[in-house]
Amino acid sequence: MKYISTRGQAPELGFCDAVMAGLAEDGGLYLPKTWPQLEKQQIAGMANKSYAHTAYEIISPFVDGEIEETVLREMIEQAYASFPHPSVAPIIELEPGHFILELFHGPTLAFKDVAMQLLARIVDHILTQRGQRATIVGATSGDTGSAAIEAFRNRSNIDIFILHPHGRVSDVQRRQMTTILDENVHNIALEGSFDDCQKLVKDMFLNVQFKKSINLTGVNSINWGRIVAQIVYYFTSAVAVGAPHRPVSFTVPTGNFGDIFAGYAAKQMGLNINKLVIATNSNDILRRALTTGTYQTSGVKPTQSPSMDIQISSNFERLLFEAGNKNSDEIRSKMNSLAQSGAFSIDEQSLAQISKNFAVGSSSDKETSTTIKSTYEQSGYLLDPHSAVGVHVARQQMDANFPMITLATAHPAKFPDAVQAASSVFPSLPPLLSDIHDRSEKCELLANDPQIIQEYIRSRTSA
Ligand SMILES: *Cc1c(COP(=O)(O)O)cnc(C)c1O
Repeated sequence: MKYISTRGQAPELGFCDAVMAGLAEDGGLYLPKTWPQLEKQQIAGMANKSYAHTAYEIISPFVDGEIEETVLREMIEQAYASFPHPSVAPIIELEPGHFILELFHGPTLAFKDVAMQLLARIVDHILTQRGQRATIVGATSGDTGSAAIEAFRNRSNIDIFILHPHGRVSDVQRRQMTTILDENVHNIALEGSFDDCQKLVKDMFLNVQFKKSINLTGVNSINWGRIVAQIVYYFTSAVAVGAPHRPVSFTVPTGNFGDIFAGYAAKQMGLNINKLVIATNSNDILRRALTTGTYQTSGVKPTQSPSMDIQISSNFERLLFEAGNKNSDEIRSKMNSLAQSGAFSIDEQSLAQISKNFAVGSSSDKETSTTIKSTYEQSGYLLDPHSAVGVHVARQQMDANFPMITLATAHPAKFPDAVQAASSVFPSLPPLLSDIHDRSEKCELLANDPQIIQEYIRSRTSA
């Protein structure tokens, strides 16, 4: 299996190289040249298999022999053993024909654990094979940082540094990062904003000499290894509600378009999906793009669902590439236009192609709160604000002919203030994290100065 860049000017790579590269060197995103196909019978057979077993069936064609079978199976087993729930991603019926897929049973209570737990093991394995070490540096406003730290803690070939804006992440979110005391984990509280954190990290990736000196590696949502791991639960949940014998629809709380793109991949692999519904909060660039044909950035508005507060939706580039018959010249010109003027237009044919597979809807903060409240009153089920965006949009898009599965991307206890304000119920932390407020923290407060940050990182890595 070869991977090609959406921008057409980077070398074709195999699975391991594509994972280690993250972003392609031409600025594009890697995609498999062709989609592996699963037979109807194989999909039906998933009904009686464990999550890890199905994960191997779906992931192995993408790895295509670059990791030995027993090693890959073992890594998948271990990744999903970190989920205390026996079915890893359980599904519950919220109301007739509407199901919730709970993706928040991992160690940091958000869906990013599903991919990160596996990706960390794969990256560490590749480094061992190559006799290398690597340094991961990331900026976080909350969820991604803790999922990465939990996944990469104590991996032998990796040092991980996560920058968060000092005083601007919630108590629980900070503690999920700073109470991890493993030696290879380094938390930096930056005297600055989240944008300052992101800029520092971006500049490190552009500083070729620095990047090389510490073997800098990224694990953000454009990494192909993360998308692959997310394809799995589309299959397991669809089969649980009747696939492949009847088509199902999904609604996905969307930010960077990684999670829902994995749903598109599942469909290309043969899963009978009716519609993939993109659910956004009031940062609704995707809704505007698909209804007007113009992808136009505007500022980020803070909402109750912060993990979906985005200005651009990076993985959307992958869908554009697919919808435009893999014309990389077209993608390059769109992305140039985005960089220069903050906008590009989507041609009629691509739009038509996209609307065959996708629908889109948004939820304001008010609608999100109302959904948390009404859902709790009607069924006793407590949604977090991200999942509530999904449920609000799903209810508008429901069609009696197709079961709807809405992805629940975070545990309500991760966003207690918004949940309590909406429902008057205080969501308590699950046992794994119930003592988090008593644990000791490890974190360095540093100035917003590239020199200081880079020196701090360089002196603590051995890559
Ligand atoms: C990251 C995240 C999302 C958005 O996922 P994308 O893959 O970026 O679209 C939604 N909800 C939660 C809780 C998240 O952490």
